[in-house]
Amino acid sequence: MKYCSQCGSEVNLQVPEGDNRPRYVCNACGTIHYQNPKMVVGCIPEWEDRILLCRRAIEPRYGLWTVPAGFMEQGETSQQGAARETLEEANARVEVKALYGLFNLPHINQVYLLFRGRLLDLDFSPGPESLEVGLFEEAEIPWQQIAFPVIRETLGLYFRDRANGGFSLHSGDIVRSGSDMRRYEITIHG
Ligand SMILES: [Zn+2]
Repeated sequence: MKYCSQCGSEVNLQVPEGDNRPRYVCNACGTIHYQNPKMVVGCIPEWEDRILLCRRAIEPRYGLWTVPAGFMEQGETSQQGAARETLEEANARVEVKALYGLFNLPHINQVYLLFRGRLLDLDFSPGPESLEVGLFEEAEIPWQQIAFPVIRETLGLYFRDRANGGFSLHSGDIVRSGSDMRRYEITIHG
């Protein structure tokens, strides 16, 4: 951040009085610009023994596969956000069900909330952010072409749970390890 969104003056990184970490503070109007993690909401749309995946038409990870997910918007619930992302990315209608995965990604200041969802019909098609959309059985999942570690991890848990006969909420942390952008440490809490 360089300029104040309130008055347009320059901001400085400094620890405000009574605080314990640096914030962007406006030199002119004194506004403290707090920055907090963003929520990413999405779902695993299910149809019988298959799930819906989207192939990304945008960066990052263009051409790779993911479940419908994106940044939560103001004024919506996390379930509404998951349904909206599914409609935007796959033109698919879902009944959003139980929360399935909660993952912290502190290195990019994001928290993922991934729900299970029931596809209401098979009338889906790629939205503007998707190259293609399809239903996959477990054996057809393109594991080497999944766009994000958080999605690969969640789908791994999903198929393990399904094989064991029941789904339960999982939470975990996914943290980039060292300077290698492609290496992650994954901790599952339960
Ligand atoms: Zn200002």
